[in-house]
Formats: sequence, C-alpha cells, structure tokens
Amino acid sequence: MFRHLRTKLTVLYAALFGVTLLVIAAIVSVAVANNATSVVNNELQANRDVFNRLWSMRADQLHDSADVLARDFGFRTAIASRDNATITSALNNLRERLGLDHAFLVENDGNIVGLPTALPQRTSEAIWNALDNKGDAAGVLILNGAPYQAVAAPVRAPDTIGWVVFAAALNSAQMRSFEDLAPIDLRAQAFTREYQRPWVGHDLSDRADLPRFAQLLSRPSGQASQIDLTGGRAIAISVPLQSMTPEDHTASTALVLSYPLSRALAPYNLLLILIAVAGLAGLALVAFGSWALAKSITQPIMALDEAAHLLQQGQEAHVEVKTQDEIARLAGSFNTMASGIKDRERRIKQMALTDTDSRLRNRRAFEGGIRKLLREDRQIGIAAFSINRYGFVRDAIGHELAAELMRGLGERLCATLPYARVARVSETTIAAIFDFQTPDDLLKQVRAVQRELEAPIRLDGIAIDVMTTAGVVVAQSGRDAATLITHATIAVDQARQQGRKAALFDAEAYGDPRNNLALISELYAALRTGDAWMVYQPKYDIAEKRITGAEALMRWRHPQRGMISPDLFIGMAEETGHIRGLTDWVLRCAINDQKLMREAGRDLLVSINVSGRLLDDRAFAERAVQLIQPGSSRLCFEITETAAFGSSSGALASIKKWQEAGIEVSIDDYGSGLSSLSYLKALRAHELKIDKSFVLAVEESRRDALLIKSTIDLAHSLGMKVTAEGVETENALALLEAMGCDLAQGYLIGKPTPLADFIAASDPLRHPVAAAPEA
Ligand code: C2E
Ligand code: CA
Ligand code: CA
Repeated sequence: MFRHLRTKLTVLYAALFGVTLLVIAAIVSVAVANNATSVVNNELQANRDVFNRLWSMRADQLHDSADVLARDFGFRTAIASRDNATITSALNNLRERLGLDHAFLVENDGNIVGLPTALPQRTSEAIWNALDNKGDAAGVLILNGAPYQAVAAPVRAPDTIGWVVFAAALNSAQMRSFEDLAPIDLRAQAFTREYQRPWVGHDLSDRADLPRFAQLLSRPSGQASQIDLTGGRAIAISVPLQSMTPEDHTASTALVLSYPLSRALAPYNLLLILIAVAGLAGLALVAFGSWALAKSITQPIMALDEAAHLLQQGQEAHVEVKTQDEIARLAGSFNTMASGIKDRERRIKQMALTDTDSRLRNRRAFEGGIRKLLREDRQIGIAAFSINRYGFVRDAIGHELAAELMRGLGERLCATLPYARVARVSETTIAAIFDFQTPDDLLKQVRAVQRELEAPIRLDGIAIDVMTTAGVVVAQSGRDAATLITHATIAVDQARQQGRKAALFDAEAYGDPRNNLALISELYAALRTGDAWMVYQPKYDIAEKRITGAEALMRWRHPQRGMISPDLFIGMAEETGHIRGLTDWVLRCAINDQKLMREAGRDLLVSINVSGRLLDDRAFAERAVQLIQPGSSRLCFEITETAAFGSSSGALASIKKWQEAGIEVSIDDYGSGLSSLSYLKALRAHELKIDKSFVLAVEESRRDALLIKSTIDLAHSLGMKVTAEGVETENALALLEAMGCDLAQGYLIGKPTPLADFIAASDPLRHPVAAAPEA
C-alpha cells in the first residue's frame, strides 16, 4: 500500500494519534454535554419550584381579592335580589382594576353571571360541579379552549349562595412575564389537552415541534430530558398544573420549561475549540515528528540499499555510520561484508593470476606483463626454464615436494629478477623476462641464472640436483605474448634436441607445426620406401680399449623437408600411439643388422631405445621376447632414466621379463632429470648412461665432473656399468677414464652411421676410431 517506509510510519503514527485525539474529544464532549445538561437540569428544576411558588402566590392574591368581593354586603344583596346589572358592574369594576381576563359569578343553581358571552353547557356544568359543595377552589380553568389561572371564593349569606370566580389567561404575555423572573434565559410554554384529545400548544413558535412536546408531556414529569426542536436540541422539563375542575377529567394543562442545548454548551465552546486546536497542533507535531524520525531511520536504510546496488554492480560500497543504533550496527555489518566481498574478489583476482603451487605469477599474468613491456617499446627477451623430466620427478617425489621444488626455484629466480618478471608458465616450466643488448648477452644472462637455478636444492632434508633446459626468445613489439611464450618453450625442446642447456628459438627449424601432423603417415610410408633407416653409433670400452657395442638410432629423410630429427618424429609417434609399430620395426632391423655385423666378424651388443610409453605395454614386452633369437641376439634396451624411475608394477614386470630373456637393460640419459639413486636398486639395470649434457660440460664445469664421478662410484657400488655419452674430445675421454667410467660413446669414438659404413669404418681394435661423417 505504501511505497515508502517514511510515508507508512508517518501515516501510522498520525492515525494513532488522531484516533486517540478523537477518543479524548468524544469523552470531553460527552462529559461537557453531561455537565451542561445536569447544570441546566438543576436550573430548570429550581425554576419549576420558583414557578410553583409564584403560581400559588398569585392564586392567593386573586383569592383574597375575590374573597373581599364575596364578603361585600352590597354585592351579596345584589345576588340575593338577583340584581344582575349591579353584579356585573361590580365584577367588571374589579376585573379592570386587577387586570384580570375574566371575573364572574357562579350562582349555586349553576347559573353564571358576569361573562360577556355564555359558556358552553359542558363547561359551565363542569365549573358548577367543581364548585358545588365546596368552599374555595383554585386551578386551571379552560374557557373556550384557552387556559386560565382561576380562583373561586364562596359568597355566603350565611349559606353559600354562589361563587366569585377570577381568571387570568395563561397567554404569551403571562409566559414572558414569568420567563423574565427566571434567572436563566429559559422559555415557558403552556399546553392543554382536552379529554381524549391531543395536546395543544398555546405559545408555539413552530407547530412541527408539537409532537416532541407531546412526547415529553406524556412521560412522568419531574426529570429534565433532551428534545429535538426545529430551533435545535433543547433540555426541557414539564410542570403539570392542577385543574380547577379535576373530578371530571375534562382537560389537563401543563407548562414546559425549556432551555436550548447550544446555549447550555456555549460556555464550553472555547474549551472545545482550544482542545481541537491543541489536538490539531499535536497531530501536526506527531506527523512531523514521525516523518523526521522515519526519515532518520529510512535515510540510512536507503543508503544501505544504494550501497547494496553498488556492491551488486561490483563497485566500491561503503555506508557512512553516524549513529550508534541498530541501523548503525547493520551498516557496520554491511561495510564489513562489503569489504570482505571486495577482499575475496581481490584474492580471487590474484589467485586467477597466481600459480598456487609456486606462488609465482601464472602464464596469464606473465602474458599481461610481456604485453605491457612491449607497449613501452622495451627490448626484452623471454627465457623458459624447463625442469628436465619433471613429470617423472613429480610422480617419484609426490605433488607436495614437487610444488615445493617449484617454489624454491621461483624464489631463486626472484632473488635476481623482479617478482613481476617471473612466472610459472606450465607445470614443468618457469619463465622470466630479461632486458638485453645483444642476443649473445641475453644467452649469457640466461646461462648465469640457469647455473644459479641448478644449485642443489634441499627438499624434505635431502639435497637434490635439478637439471633444467632453457629456451630463449627475443620479443619484438607487435608479437603476441602467448606466441612468444610458446616459442620460448619450443626453444627448450630445440635445446634438448641439440643436447644443449640453453638455446635461442630457431624459427626455421621449428617449421610449420601444421605440417607435422601429416608426418606420421609419411613416416610409415618411409619405412616401406627406404626413406627411413637405422644408423649405428659405436660404444667404446675404455678399459679394453675396443668397440664392444653399438646404439641403434633411427634416421628419416623426408622427400620435401629433408632430414627430420628423431626427437620430432619419435615424439610424435609416442603422442599418436604409433611408437609400438615403429619400435617393432627398429627391433627387427637391429636383430637383422646384428646378424650381418656378426657375419662381418663383429660381435657387438646392440642397444635399442625403448620409449617409456612401451614399458606398460604387455603385448610389446612379449613380442620383443619372441623376436629375439636365443643365442644369436645380444640386445640391450635403453630406457630413459625417468621412464624407469616412475615405473609402475607393469613396467617392472616388463623389465624383469626382458632380463629373464637375456636382454640387458640400460638407464638412458641419467642425470638429465632430477636424480636420485635409490630407485636404481629396485631396477637392477646392467648399465647407466650418463646424459650427454653432463659429459659435454665435464671439461668446463668442476661441478659436473664431480657429479659424474660420484655417479660412477654409486653405479659401480650397485653393480652397474657406466657409459658416458656425448664424448667429443680426447680430454673428456681421459677425464672419464680417470674417473673409472666403463664405456664411452660420442663423436670422438664415432658418429652414428648406416650399417654398411659402420661395418667398414669401425675397426674393433683401433683406438680411438676416426669417425666417418654421419650419413
Ligand atoms: P639418445 O638415446 O640419447 O641418443 C643419443 C643421441 O645423441 C643421438 O641423437 C646421437 O646422434 C647424439 N650423439 C651421439 N654422440 C654425440 C656427441 O658426441 N655429441 C652430441 N652432441 N650428440 C651426440 P639422435 O640420433 O638425434 O637421437 C635423438 C634421440 O632420439 C635419442 O636420444 C633417442 O632418445 C631418440 N631415438 C633415436 N632413435 C630412436 C629409436 O629408434 N627409437 C626410440 N624409441 N628413440 C630413438
Ligand atoms: Ca639412447
Ligand atoms: Ca642418451
């Protein structure tokens, strides 16, 4: 009903006050009316008594005068002699002197003398009946319908011979003179009623009032009551007048004294007006007061409402609190809630831009940072540091420690670079933004940071070596930030392919990734057409100083794209589920080639790379066992370190099955990921291959040399042979020999070469082998 609380409260309070006021006014006016009525009532009763006294005084006066005449000798003689002229003259004489209306004689035979006109028979009989056998008489006498105050005095000689009757009319003049005697301004009116006839009023101002008077007259007299007259409501009392002729019931007469109620209430009018004025003023005051109060309540509510709207629209919302009441407390709660919501929003926003594991900025935030710097026209380089074989590391040490590891690396980066320039861009990779002068300078900075990153890190009380590969891209303005990050991570892959710790993104080598998908089907075609073939790289036994093995590596020359890196097509075969078919083919080639080598007089252990994805493949495990020919095949399966590291029970079963079938197992690329030797015990592999990234650095880095030395010692203590791959210099070979390394593989010994060249070139007794260029 009300759209505003303010209106509602105002109307409600004003209405309540108004009702109270009306009740009070009603009570006051009833009390006033009652009081006025009772005052007038008392006044009327007092006047009735006054009237009664006046009535009887006048009756006495009239009687005395009548008695004087009745006793007059001459008058009695005139009666006795029936001298009507004398009688009439005497009566008229007195009537005029006393100002009466009628004076007459009733003879004791009923004859009436002295009236100008004869009375009706019934009236004269009634008078005679009233007087007969009586002395004096007084009361109302109705003559020709009009009421009179009459007295009768007997004429005795000595017996009663008649009565002298005096009558004064109860007319308007009489009434006025009576009213004049009353102390209040009342009105007196006479009413008569002949036997069984209605009342007749003799001094009525309006005939319409007669029924009301009649009603009053028919009630028992004595009490004043209110009657509605045309001139307004009045308080009235009836005074019955005794008839002079009571016995015959011919007529009744009564006087009505009335007083207008409005006049009775007049003295109270001022009071009532004052009450009304005070009431209206109060009402206005209450309305204004409740409006002001309601305003003081609704204003903060409206402010709250407005603030809630702002909050809903995600804007800043704060309500000013000036009071200390409930609404103020509500506003306080609202403010707390609003700032809580804002806080949470801020945190959610922050979370959306933060990597929860490392507490570094995430890729999205990083992209924003790059965009900003590019807009400022800054020359920046982006480096992605990828933890080698992170997935396996994480599976081995658990998510929590892996997260801690990322956090630790992030802290290291932030020690040299501003927080805003460091971010975790993928699960395995942390990226950073560098300022630089030349690409060489950029790479140098990245390498320096990378060395700091790779310092042993303590996790759960154990010091662990983390190996990373860095991919770097030079950001030119106008380049998309997301693409730049992608290129940095591709540069990581490119660095890995080249066996380097860090590399600049090589756009040419990357090619168009859209063409890569078609590669797989083309690879299968290549297996049939001879565009794909195997090459063999010799493995040199340092102690025996001769070639004792060869690693089989695959090569593919694409008709249009030329040589394609095995890292690319092997990776794709793994991703697309074709690695089993491919490895089948390699296995058959290798077994066959081994036979040819033996026929050429070289009995070599042939190593085959087995993808980690095939470890869980039971069908492949069995097929490999079936393919090898007992007695003639001497094979070794190279399994990447971390592939074995994260091995499931299925993987362990495969490895066991191969070992039972006489296949040796080698742990490849050892040290390129996160290293821990504890799992090696469980594997019981024959060989450990130290990753070429270490071996390539063995001459320049004391730390890498130390790591290689301790790895060799540990592997030996676990009963494994150690092969160092990536041996390119005599110096490196000498160092490895001094460290007790068992086998060496690398360009120094021999590059991977096709079978025919391999057989022709590698002289098992010569050391070292001058490698023929790779086909
Ligand atoms: P890998 O098993 O670690 O193979 C050794 C890689 O090091 C070969 O690269 C080899 O050419 C290279 N290498 C050998 N000596 C030196 C050296 O002195 N200096 C340097 N810088 N590099 C040297 P390649 O042939 O490009 O193969 C790359 C990777 O592709 C291999 O790494 C292996 O993981 C995978 N791969 C190659 N052939 C096969 C295959 O038939 N099956 C499977 N599953 N993987 C293969
Ligand atoms: Ca290998
Ligand atoms: Ca390797």
